[in-house]
Formats: sequence, structure tokens, C-alpha cells
Amino acid sequence: MNSKNHKSFLKSRQLSSILWMIKNLKEIFNMGKINKEWHLKNKMPKNPSFEERMEWHIKHMENCSCREPTPKLKEEMKLYLKKK
Ligand SMILES: [Zn+2]
Repeated sequence: MNSKNHKSFLKSRQLSSILWMIKNLKEIFNMGKINKEWHLKNKMPKNPSFEERMEWHIKHMENCSCREPTPKLKEEMKLYLKKK
């Protein structure tokens, strides 16, 4: 391997490790945002009604951001809030 090739080899190695770090940091960051205390105190009831489910998700969004609501859930929440 000549020195020029060696340099570009090192560059691509650095780039891939940076990309790997960004990907994992994002996961770590998202995981860090879980409000464990809230989850322990606010368990989703078994066989929840639509209202119970919506109330849970609304409170969950206010207190915790461990997961993004799905587009379907967002639509359901909109419907629920309109009816209220
Ligand atoms: Zn959560």
C-alpha cells in the first residue's frame, strides 16, 4: 500500500466510525429520555377503552418522550381531542 492509498483508507475508516457513533448516540439519547418514574406510576390499563388509551397517550406525551407517537396514534388523538 502506498502512502496516498493508506491515507484515504484511514479517512474512510474515520468516517465510518463517526457515522457509527452518530447512529448510536441517537439511540442512547432517545433511551435517556424515558421517564421511568412516570411509567411505573402510570401503567396502561388492561384492555383499555379508546378513551383510556387516548388519555394515557396524551399524559405520556406530556411526561415522557421515550417514543414518537405513530401517525395513526396522532390521528386518533386528534379525533379524541376534537370530541372532547
Ligand atoms: Zn415513555
